[in-house]
Amino acid sequence: MGNAFSILLSILILILALSCHPTPVPSVTFTPTVRVETPQPGPSPSPVKLTPEAVLTPDPYVEKRKQMVESQIRARGVKDERVLAAMEKVPRHEFVPPEYLSQAYADHPLPIGYGQTISQPYIVAVMTELLRLKPGDKVLEIGTGSGYQAAILAEITDKVYTVEIIPELARSAEERLRRLGYTQVKVKNADGYYGWEEYAPYDAIIVTCAPDHVPRPLIRQLKDGGRLVIPVGPPGGYQSLWLIEKHGEEIKSRNVMGVLFVPMLGEH
Ligand code: SAH
Repeated sequence: MGNAFSILLSILILILALSCHPTPVPSVTFTPTVRVETPQPGPSPSPVKLTPEAVLTPDPYVEKRKQMVESQIRARGVKDERVLAAMEKVPRHEFVPPEYLSQAYADHPLPIGYGQTISQPYIVAVMTELLRLKPGDKVLEIGTGSGYQAAILAEITDKVYTVEIIPELARSAEERLRRLGYTQVKVKNADGYYGWEEYAPYDAIIVTCAPDHVPRPLIRQLKDGGRLVIPVGPPGGYQSLWLIEKHGEEIKSRNVMGVLFVPMLGEH
């Protein structure tokens, strides 16, 4: 019985081994197919998400400038829309030293080095309004300082000339104005008491430092019908802001208000 079983087992193993013998594999040729991807209609890839701040306020000082114009300038009676628009546009924070950044739009002047100051926004606006500038007018500024007043003028007309007596301030203001795109402003390092003869006569002249008398060369460099806005007073004291208008040989002057400017430097 045991013997018969082992014979049967051997036969079974033999049958199994024969059935597992590898059979030749038929050869298959693959024809590669190329799939061309065609764009499918549907939603395009989602755009890069910007933060709400980046979308709404590319310049973080836009709101501060609006507030400055409304509360310090319009509310106090400045009406010239060109002046208000310029004050709202020029980035004053670019004209103050980094340590005063948080006060850039405050209601007072700020130091700019070399014992000089950038004027209070309201005073800049009042003086600019008194010039009655129109696009195309030629305007001369004496006392470039930071270049802020020159940038305000450049928002209204493309013919702006400005003279600064301190070489370092003249150089840095020129660089700043170029960087900010006010490329039409011409800056000269000289004593502004003598104006800028080369481009005279001017429709308007603004002086942002205070001499103790009105410099004659500035009156001479005014066009007929031209306006000169200038603080005049003793060095170290308060001054009067004057609006001087030239009509032929006649000079009309009006004392507008009391102001406090740095003195005009130089020997006169
Ligand atoms: N308008 C400037 C601020 C003026 S501060 C601004 O927007 O920032 C007064 C400037 O007048 C100072 O930079 C000072 O150096 C300059 N200044 C003084 N005497 C001057 C003179 N005789 N000629 C030209 N600039 C003069």
